[in-house]
Amino acid sequence: MSNSSDSKQPAATAELEKSLAWVRPIVRQQSAYHVADASGLIKLDAMENPYQLPDELKAELQKTLAQAELNRYPDPAASSLRNKLAEVMQVPEGKSIVLGNGSDELIQMLAMAVADTGKEVCLLSFDPGFVMYKMISDFSGINYVGVPLREDFSIDMPAARKAIEAHRPALIFIAYPNNPSANCYDESDIEEIISIAPGMVVLDEAYNPFAKATFMDRLTRYDNLLVMRTVSKMGLAGLRLGLLCGHPSIISEIDKIRLPYNINVLTQVTAEFVLANMAVLDQQAASIREDRAALLKSMNAIAGLEVFPSQANFILFRVLGREANDVFDSIKQSGVLIKNMKANAGPLKNCLRVTVGTPEENAAFISALNTAMAA
Ligand code: PMP
Repeated sequence: MSNSSDSKQPAATAELEKSLAWVRPIVRQQSAYHVADASGLIKLDAMENPYQLPDELKAELQKTLAQAELNRYPDPAASSLRNKLAEVMQVPEGKSIVLGNGSDELIQMLAMAVADTGKEVCLLSFDPGFVMYKMISDFSGINYVGVPLREDFSIDMPAARKAIEAHRPALIFIAYPNNPSANCYDESDIEEIISIAPGMVVLDEAYNPFAKATFMDRLTRYDNLLVMRTVSKMGLAGLRLGLLCGHPSIISEIDKIRLPYNINVLTQVTAEFVLANMAVLDQQAASIREDRAALLKSMNAIAGLEVFPSQANFILFRVLGREANDVFDSIKQSGVLIKNMKANAGPLKNCLRVTVGTPEENAAFISALNTAMAA
């Protein structure tokens, strides 16, 4: 048994050659989405919530899960879960929701809805941004246009206007807050983009629990606006559940693309159970926001770093006057895994990204960072 990330491939047979010849060049050129091995390390690389559910809730959940009918297909529409999500996420009255196996799958469904062979279709976003927008565009035969952000990671509006006019994107993705820069863009810039867009604008609010702002309420104002959320960063990354909210006529088109049983029964039951106990997740998010402030303060006190502000559960920082690769390796040697942005130039030059963990994990990271910077 081997997986796609294995580097050693057996010698190609004629049968293998003729099979692979059908795979589109754009797929063959790509490398698989890389997930670093975190065995034995403090894991601060993937924007997960470090907290589990309290033991009493876990025990109650186990009982609920025991009643799930594993022999039956799940509710294809996941109606009960969608109703709960609408309530908890304050989706405006009259708007619809489609669910995805993670918000990644929703990005894929949106791309499939607009991709059309023989027609130039464009997905526009901002760079540096979330890598799946480009990967999914590539796999769907859509032209990806990445408008460069300014040095401070704000939107360069003259460049955005020009690109929107030139490429007429079917889809514009705006991560709010953005990954990897952790900032929320100017609200009036986004409103202008929604107004001038020739198609749909998706506000990807994956990090909403850690931010002060949302566009969810603005769904009532703009029919071409879609708001995407996920339960991943809230503490349920293992479930794989994302939601896309918007005008019922758009959502019902996207829903046609969705595979019938894409949200499995264990996810449906677990998510509904946890969302009924939302106070627990809200409390965890509040702790993470407080610990983010403490972590920013500790990082700002270390010489030789440029630390960017954050409205998310992670912090982007630049290493000055030395190699970020060496600092990353040294932190890993100390037992902490963060994310190396691996950029030699551009706005992410020499940047690393750390997820806010528990106070103990954050202390271990600060100690590792101090050791790395003192070397
Ligand atoms: N959007 C953004 C901006 C992200 O950073 C991520 C995950 N890193 C996702 C979406 C995907 O989230 P999910 O786990 O729901 O697929």
